[in-house]
Amino acid sequence: MLILGASGDLTKRLLLPGIGSLVVGGDESDLELLDGLTVVGSGRSDKADGWRDTVAAAFEQVGAEGDRVDAILASTKYVQADPTEPDDWKRLLDGVDGDLVVYFALPPSVVVKVAGILQDIDLPEHTVLAIEKPFGDDADSATELNEELVKVVPEGRIHRVDHFLGQRAALAMLATRFNNRLLESSWNADQIERVEIVYDEKLGLEGRAGYYDTAGALRDMLQSHLLQVLAVTTCEAPAGLDPEHLRDSLAAVLAVTQPWTGAPVFPDTDGPSRRARYTAGEIDGKSLPDYTAEEGVDPDHETETLAEIALEVDNARWAGVPFVLRSGKAIGDPANEIRVTYRPVRFRPDGQSGTGSAEVLRFGFKPPRIEFRFTSGGGDMPFQLDPVEVSGALPKSPVTEYGEVVRGVLGDDPTLSIRGDVAVQCWRIVQPILDAWQRGEVPLDEYPAGSGGPSSWS
Ligand code: NDP
Repeated sequence: MLILGASGDLTKRLLLPGIGSLVVGGDESDLELLDGLTVVGSGRSDKADGWRDTVAAAFEQVGAEGDRVDAILASTKYVQADPTEPDDWKRLLDGVDGDLVVYFALPPSVVVKVAGILQDIDLPEHTVLAIEKPFGDDADSATELNEELVKVVPEGRIHRVDHFLGQRAALAMLATRFNNRLLESSWNADQIERVEIVYDEKLGLEGRAGYYDTAGALRDMLQSHLLQVLAVTTCEAPAGLDPEHLRDSLAAVLAVTQPWTGAPVFPDTDGPSRRARYTAGEIDGKSLPDYTAEEGVDPDHETETLAEIALEVDNARWAGVPFVLRSGKAIGDPANEIRVTYRPVRFRPDGQSGTGSAEVLRFGFKPPRIEFRFTSGGGDMPFQLDPVEVSGALPKSPVTEYGEVVRGVLGDDPTLSIRGDVAVQCWRIVQPILDAWQRGEVPLDEYPAGSGGPSSWS
């Protein structure tokens, strides 16, 4: 595995621990993938001296140890090279013998350039490319990136990484939906009133202005991760276990997804989106400055740190159900879950007209869990109704989300990666919202860090 951009944050914080987590929690077939694995880090900066320590620390962080760890540490090396320089590829590929994974842990602007160079290089016959998001910055640039990548290797060996597809909640959504009659029979617009996919976090900018200030919450979280979660929540059952079967199902449902056109979903606006930015505040006793006072932020970018959009999935199963996607930074008491609200029943024990309360099913991201709130009874009086909540933790696995990514790229199984047409669809879905924001049609509201969002939104 040749990691381009190995001196960066992603490699140290997510990718290397992901490899370690497979050592800890992988099954026999995962461990076979790790046998004989050589990890080569590379970058323009000279990090050769500390490289082995970086890998060792990442493995230690997830508790990986033993012969396999020793073997990887013994063979790993760092090559100082610039992947945008064709001549440097001689050094980058020196000693490569066998199957190759080229992992692009590079800024997006560099990826197309490197893909162009790889088209003229004789790569090992079985080469897999792993690309980090964002995949372009609109539908046209995502298409261009796709065209460049397939000149290097066939589409099936291009893994566009979205680690949310490796989240327990996303995996559990697929497993639960199609294997339980109770859910499968009610998983449609007749029974379900609304679906919210929420991923809020306490963290503020954390020094990532360089990337985040030109991206914002919509591009960073909703356009990529949360649309994938929407797809696993709404797709039809895959025809089989071939990677393309699930990918076909996800592509089909995203192809009919678009901004909401029905009755207003958000109380304060007719449109399908709202956005906001945090001001100074406090979270867990720690002060956060106003977003615009963070180092590297340009206030003129009008970057949102909280985005909410409403979408419709225009097919027979889902027409009429709003899907609200939301993600925000610096949120006190953050929610992160897929929240499915059923239509309330038409029954009131007191004989009055109206409806009872609705069942709510939640798939939680962190900690991974399933919760179901419904109405029951059992008190002194017949039809004395009480809300009941049952919940269960999802099975834990030491394999991290990036462990799932590594499992996919080493095993050449793209099931949990984004196919090229899906990357383009995801931009097509959000583009009208980005355009409306660009035209200034949606106000940029404010909320104090540590709050739940703008007070006018609740
Ligand atoms: P960084 O910005 O830290 O960049 C990674 C490395 O790329 C740098 O250390 C640098 O290494 C190299 N690099 C930078 N500019 C150039 C250039 N012009 N030409 C060649 N190499 C260059 O990125 P991250 O590690 O944070 O992220 C890598 C990728 O992963 C990005 O696409 C990002 O969007 C994505 N990602 C990151 C996440 C994160 O939490 N960090 C989460 C999800 C996705 P050197 O100077 O040594 O060459």
